Amino acid sequence: MPRVSFVNGQFVRHRQAGVHVEDRGYQFADAVYEVIAVAKGRMVDEELHLERLERSLREIRMEMPFTVGIFRLKVAELLRLNRIVNGSLYLQVSRGVSPRNHQIPSAICPSVVMTVRPMISPPQEMFEKGVSIITVRDIRWRRPDIKSVALLPNVLAKDEAIRNNVFEAWQVDDGVVTEGTSTNAWIVSKGTLITHPPTNGILNGVTRRALLKIAEKEGASIEERPFSVGEAMVADEAFLTSTSSFLIPVIEIDGEKIGEGTPGPVSRQMMALYNNHVWTEDA
Ligand code: PMP
Repeated sequence: MPRVSFVNGQFVRHRQAGVHVEDRGYQFADAVYEVIAVAKGRMVDEELHLERLERSLREIRMEMPFTVGIFRLKVAELLRLNRIVNGSLYLQVSRGVSPRNHQIPSAICPSVVMTVRPMISPPQEMFEKGVSIITVRDIRWRRPDIKSVALLPNVLAKDEAIRNNVFEAWQVDDGVVTEGTSTNAWIVSKGTLITHPPTNGILNGVTRRALLKIAEKEGASIEERPFSVGEAMVADEAFLTSTSSFLIPVIEIDGEKIGEGTPGPVSRQMMALYNNHVWTEDA
């Protein structure tokens, strides 16, 4: 069975799936997106993803292009056609196709594209042993809270990480760790979980939000506040979160060991709780 994607209301063969060369997503990054994990056929934290999509669209002066009901039907069909039970869904909404002009066209139909693929989890070793990261300067625009497809700085930072044989790059703005290239950043200090507050300076990760809720329920001590690279270096533990990576312990930053240089107890506890959230139906 060939892979199938969703393009503007149609299910089409993935190889033939495309949008026009004058799509504003392609020419201006005038588009927003979501990546949603699918576990046992169920979208993980669907509500939080749709809430964020609606917010991203609103911030770029667009409206939701579908109802929740239609969205669920189309996703279910796409998963069925591709025989995917555990995987990830990519959804992109661009302003649409129009002759190239910076001015936002008044009558324009948004382009809606969805692709699905089997879950590609990071190797098990990363969860068990943790990963190393580097820090890079945060050179992005000032609204990374909008989940736009303008990801070139993130792509370049990830490339720098790969060139340095590490998993991720944490972006640093004026001494403060904002977030990774596609992950949110956390440290643990004296038993307290610390992560950047959801300002305009970071993407408010759905995994981040879900984990905060889980941690709160467990009675964990939490501080949503900026932290510096220096503070991260002397933290007891560090980890990162995202839809695709779940929770991965960070054991080294810029070549310096964090804590014991192994995944710490709080990270491991949070990892187990988050896994349970993903894989348990009623979580
Ligand atoms: N920050 C950035 C810049 C990201 O691209 C992502 C992943 N989309 C995240 C954080 C994590 O967000 P989520 O938990 O919603 O995947």
